[in-house]
Amino acid sequence: PKNSVLIQFKSIPENVSLARVLVASIGAQFDLTISELDELKVAVSEAVSNAMIHGYLNDPDKNVEMEILCFDEKLIIRVTDYGVGIADVQLALQPSYSTEDDRMGLGFVFIQSFMDKMDVKSKLNQGTTVTMVK
Ligand code: ATP
Ligand code: MG
Repeated sequence: PKNSVLIQFKSIPENVSLARVLVASIGAQFDLTISELDELKVAVSEAVSNAMIHGYLNDPDKNVEMEILCFDEKLIIRVTDYGVGIADVQLALQPSYSTEDDRMGLGFVFIQSFMDKMDVKSKLNQGTTVTMVK
């Protein structure tokens, strides 16, 4: 990559904003429209929120990792938690599927529609990595 950033942060809501600002700053170096930049921020927020809420069950002492790789024409963003993992990834990706009653189950749907590619790797009790490409 031409540039790469690897950051680790505590699982607290303030750091969802941090992740958004960071990706917006990097994204601004690319030829993206304002709305594409907004979508990039939403996608990253969804992945980071999922890591905190689902992966770490809101435990502030756990750390989320985010890696950003910049290539000439492409941006790869990877969000990793070492939390509970996802039992059935295909099921988790279904629109409106959520393991929590009060949630919409749309995070993965947004990521998939706002990014060019999304890949979810997960192992139960080991954690989850969401890779997004723009
Ligand atoms: P919303 O994003 O609309 O608030 P949601 O988070 O439940 O609702 P998705 O983001 O689409 O919906 O995630 C679907 C489901 O996948 C979650 O309900 C959860 O069960 C599981 N999941 C997602 N990310 C993780 C993760 N990092 N670790 C463990 N489970 C996850
Ligand atoms: Mg979500």
